[in-house]
Amino acid sequence: MSFDDYRGVWVFIEAKDGAVAPVSLELLGAGRTLADKRKTELAGVLIGHRVTGLAAAAFEYGADTVYVYDDPIFTHYRTETFMKALLACTQKYKPEIILYGATSTGKDLASAVATDLPTGLTADTTLLDVEEDTGLLLASRPAFGGNIMATILCKKYRPQMATVRPKVMKALPREEGRTGKLIEESIPLQEEDVRTKVLEIVRRTTQQVRIDEADIVVSGGKGMGGPEGFQLIHRLAGVLGAAVGASRDVVEAGWIEHHHQVGQTGVTVTPKIYFAIGISGAIQHIVGMQNSGLIIAINKDPEAAIFQSCHYGIVGDAFEIIPLLIEQFTKALG
Ligand code: FAD
Repeated sequence: MSFDDYRGVWVFIEAKDGAVAPVSLELLGAGRTLADKRKTELAGVLIGHRVTGLAAAAFEYGADTVYVYDDPIFTHYRTETFMKALLACTQKYKPEIILYGATSTGKDLASAVATDLPTGLTADTTLLDVEEDTGLLLASRPAFGGNIMATILCKKYRPQMATVRPKVMKALPREEGRTGKLIEESIPLQEEDVRTKVLEIVRRTTQQVRIDEADIVVSGGKGMGGPEGFQLIHRLAGVLGAAVGASRDVVEAGWIEHHHQVGQTGVTVTPKIYFAIGISGAIQHIVGMQNSGLIIAINKDPEAAIFQSCHYGIVGDAFEIIPLLIEQFTKALG
């Protein structure tokens, strides 16, 4: 494999509900830095149906080129169809790096592509850099339960691939009117060749604020005692218009669904205010919330590790403190 044949940094552009997913814009920001260091171009790969118009956003957020596969066969995400398009594009243009958002689609697609290409994939990267001269991607992520940061290299194969968590990288400011090269691509794929059929899309409707988009997150841990005690977390969140988060132990106990889990194996959140209530402060939880603007911890154990990672700490019983907070916030917020 001659590495000289491989040039360019690519970002898989995820289209969701007629818009580019925020994580893809963040990756264009990160990808721009890598591409500039390598003095190469930054490209996006956009796959879907009626998605060509979204290329404009990719250009405005840093892409030089966008490869588009726009066909009814790509109306819904399916591993098989998207993987075939991306593989064909990769084999034709040979990028040196491909970045994907660590979303359910990005993770699925990246791992499928990695099984077909003779190359590796670093999952859930939180830090990216590149060696200017060798082009070696330095993809760092927490390892060994979050106790160390490991930098993972793909020395022998190209392209180098990584998935990156949402909200970790920063999108560039939008440069209105910035354009680039749009390259329309297609693959000879018929619906009858595809084994997976989408029969129905069931959307979960919820009144609740999304945890990774909320300005305030109120998270509860095992210290809330049980599902009934955990209702206090919901009540406080309701008063503040906040999203509800949880530790993994709470999710494993079945008090709340997994998409509320904050941490290494859950969601990374960066709200303006994060409440950690009855949460001990294990490193795997901390890595998912440590970049929040203001962290407020409530724990009855003054020695709890969470007090090392918060701006304000309240030592006391959550069952006494939360009702007082609800009362005061209700008064203050009307
Ligand atoms: P506990 O550790 O049991 O802590 C409960 C806390 O509540 C204690 O500090 C206690 O003092 C306090 N408390 C008890 N009663 C009260 C009260 N009445 N008022 C106030 N405080 C009270 N964890 C995550 O959260 N997210 C992850 O993504 C995650 N990923 C992991 C990945 C791996 C590979 C591993 C090994 C672990 C992972 N964990 C994760 C688990 C993590 O190590 C901890 O076990 C977990 O975070 C602990 O949850 P907790 O703080 O709710 O429970």
